[in-house]
Amino acid sequence: MSLCHPDVGNVSCGACCGLFNLKLQPKEFKTLLLERTFEFQTTVNFEVRHSFPIFRKERETKEAHIPKKDDMTYNCPFLGYVDPAKQRIGCMIHPIFTGDPKSQNFSFYGASICQAYDCKNKESILADLWESLFVEIAKDSVEYSFLSADHIFSYALEKYFQLLNISMDRMFQEFRLEMMDLFRMRLQTSAEKNFTSFEINYESFSDLSVLEDYFSKELGQSWKDWREGMTKKNPG
Ligand code: SF4
Ligand code: SF4
Repeated sequence: MSLCHPDVGNVSCGACCGLFNLKLQPKEFKTLLLERTFEFQTTVNFEVRHSFPIFRKERETKEAHIPKKDDMTYNCPFLGYVDPAKQRIGCMIHPIFTGDPKSQNFSFYGASICQAYDCKNKESILADLWESLFVEIAKDSVEYSFLSADHIFSYALEKYFQLLNISMDRMFQEFRLEMMDLFRMRLQTSAEKNFTSFEINYESFSDLSVLEDYFSKELGQSWKDWREGMTKKNPG
């Protein structure tokens, strides 16, 4: 389908619905998503329109105590699990479930914003390649969302390989394991970040020294170890 909902695997992304603005650990995200899903399935009736705003109000009240990384970013409670196995996350009031093209108007953003928004990674010409890599790495939808929303990191990596004169084909094939290692390191630091996918990349990453600084800041010693391995494999 798309980076948001891959055809393969049991993972999907929900980062742009504000999930990661909540200061929670990966396990707590899953508990919250399960709670929302259970409450939604037991209280919302698609035939009863006022059951949507009641659910939204109830959840907003219940989630008000969760610390936020940015008070101005909204966390939509309609994001939950959308498959019977409770593995894929998505919009529980998406028209494919409700049959109503405007049902997302019950949310804070409204249907037109919910349906029009595409993050940088989704817009990228490499979206399919990123998708297959992230599906391979992610253990669950929370990890997949962290990876998919982190478009500045993906972009920096594209630039890094480009500046090493390694083509994108080689990057995703020959260096696939190295990429997977790097993203796994990234996942270890992701809980601290606030990936909404709305982040703007002000950095052009025009040369290797800028990229060095960026990756060292983001990954610390792990980056230096990884780069040493890369240099051995690709002495340049
Ligand atoms: S952050 Fe990107 S990949 Fe994730 S749901 Fe939003 S648009 Fe899709
Ligand atoms: S209503 Fe919009 S913001 Fe809320 S979960 Fe659905 S798509 Fe995301």
